[in-house]
Amino acid sequence: MGADGTFERMWSELEPVGRHPRSGGYRRFAWADADLECRTWFVANAAERDLDVEADGNGNLWAWWGDPEAGNALVTGSHLDSVPDGGAFDGPLGVVSAFAALDVLRARGFTPSRPVAIVAFSDEEGARFGVACGGSRLMTGELDADRGRALTDAEGVTMAEAMAAAGHDPAGVGTDPERLSRLGQFVELHVEQGRVPLTTPDGARVWGLDGYGAPIGLASMIWPHGRWRFDFAGRADHAGTTALGDRDDPMIRYADAVLAARAAAERHTAVATFGKVSVHPNGVNAIPSLVQAWLDARGSDEERVRATVADVSGHTGSRTSPQPAVEESWTPAVRFDDALRDVVATALKPRFGAVPVLPTGAGHDAGILAAAGVPAAMLFVRNPTGVSHSPAESADRADCLSGVEALADVLEALG
Ligand SMILES: [Zn+2]
Repeated sequence: MGADGTFERMWSELEPVGRHPRSGGYRRFAWADADLECRTWFVANAAERDLDVEADGNGNLWAWWGDPEAGNALVTGSHLDSVPDGGAFDGPLGVVSAFAALDVLRARGFTPSRPVAIVAFSDEEGARFGVACGGSRLMTGELDADRGRALTDAEGVTMAEAMAAAGHDPAGVGTDPERLSRLGQFVELHVEQGRVPLTTPDGARVWGLDGYGAPIGLASMIWPHGRWRFDFAGRADHAGTTALGDRDDPMIRYADAVLAARAAAERHTAVATFGKVSVHPNGVNAIPSLVQAWLDARGSDEERVRATVADVSGHTGSRTSPQPAVEESWTPAVRFDDALRDVVATALKPRFGAVPVLPTGAGHDAGILAAAGVPAAMLFVRNPTGVSHSPAESADRADCLSGVEALADVLEALG
């Protein structure tokens, strides 16, 4: 069976797993049933290819072509979990393409000179326990083992309890320097998310790979990003009896902040989103006493992100004493390895020409590994609308198959 055949079969095997019948979106949350089904799928596909499969202490799955102990491993893969009502491609495209690329390499008669591994990182989206890239962050030690085990989901179930219920011993959770030291390079293939401005060779300004007319792109960097909590304090009162002039309504100031964030992001060429809000006491006939809202801000460099947040920060606190927003997380920019990207670009050239190089505002396991010193590269497969984290996420099948060929070319050049 050629690459098309194996891709199609794997894709149709995964397609129904965790798909919500009404929304059409995927709900594959770490260690819950759909995720376990995806893990079983991974193990079966590894076994079919005579790859040695193992789960590490953090629950990341590894399928080995060659000796895992030999070191300098060439690793490819992505993740299988999803956000609530996520699309079919974010994550699984990288894992399915990895298996399909291995099939292509074997059909070409290629034998790698060093171990090759396919990985499915655990809990990349953080949809259940609130920390994105949990599996890779635990492995590199960026997320402390005890903190990770104690994270809870919406039902109060800890990560440790969820792992144990799924048959994975949480005692193994934690930093894994030995495994990390055996990784030579990591190449993650991922569906394109959003459409960034690109300049074509003839100087035209276009949006995303679709505008550029390229099925494949290469990552330059992951934008720095952070999360800030805003507490808008006011005075609870009766919605029917309080004159407008007598109100101290924090919802109004929150609304101002939403508009200010949008304007600030435009001013500083960044992006800023209030995507989560908590209203107290949250009664339909009550002026709120407190509105808490969370701002996610990202941009091509730290200065523009900080400037955006600073412009919004004056809106928080109470009417009489504004306060700065509370920084809940900050992730610095990750620049992917230049030397590795050059090798990857050269490997892609015969089939795809000079592929566009683009930044991304989304976090990835490849970024976590890169920050931990593993040379990493990312290939993006064209997503015509850019829509992601949504059932509307899409990629043409022909582009997915181009991605498989691209990944095979890259692995062949590196392996
Ligand atoms: Zn992803």
